[in-house]
Amino acid sequence: MTPAPDDYSYLATQWAAIRQRVDAACREAGRDPAEVNILPVSKTFGPEVIRAAVALGLHRFGENKVQEIRDKSGPLADCAIDWVMIGHLQTNKVKDVARLASEVQSLDRPELAEALHRRLQTEGRVIDVLVQVKTSREESKYGLPPEELPAFLDSLRGYDTMRVRGLMTLAIHSTEPQEVRACFRLLRELRTQAVAQGHDLTRLSMGMSGDFPLAIAEGATEVRIGTAIFGSRPHADSYYWPELPK
Ligand SMILES: *Cc1c(COP(=O)(O)O)cnc(C)c1O
Repeated sequence: MTPAPDDYSYLATQWAAIRQRVDAACREAGRDPAEVNILPVSKTFGPEVIRAAVALGLHRFGENKVQEIRDKSGPLADCAIDWVMIGHLQTNKVKDVARLASEVQSLDRPELAEALHRRLQTEGRVIDVLVQVKTSREESKYGLPPEELPAFLDSLRGYDTMRVRGLMTLAIHSTEPQEVRACFRLLRELRTQAVAQGHDLTRLSMGMSGDFPLAIAEGATEVRIGTAIFGSRPHADSYYWPELPK
């Protein structure tokens, strides 16, 4: 049966289902489900769909492109949404992020940190950030190389506009669970090292619709879920991650 165009009841069903699957993955891993948040990823879905998700009690949404945050934040201004930037961020686009986002999970290079800091100063805002680390050997995948993390974290201490809360990664696109899991394990180990170095990092944002149980098994505190909540998107993943093979 095809639902009416304005019938968003599937969202409640899919939201409940993914929460149950996340809870089950936590139990499987011997973890407390209360330790793992779900960040709904609303990229490509319009304001009406997001408004329906807000009615379910969701108020944080992950977006992959600055343009989409800009386009949606106006029509949804009454919803008090926390927009979370999770996609590759060009230095010349920090202005809107500094103005509109409550958090950036894709901080992955010194020039970006500097540009974002300047803009946040202008806006008089302080936001949470996660450092995105490249945990797979895939060519040109965004994220800071792991060996550069210690120095990068030290440099971020100089910015009072950003609270560094943890690390984020995208795992390798692979059908081999062991390869995917190795990416998540590396991120957890990098956090352990950073904590030993004196950084107060608690969060690990890792895992998506297709691989979240592995991420939870390796200690994810947040999984970023798009498809399993909102349904499939009109474009292939290569549209969102231009560096991937088409
Ligand atoms: C789209 C996206 C997600 C969610 O992916 P799904 O497979 O739809 O759950 C997670 N993280 C990032 C960075 C994304 O761009």
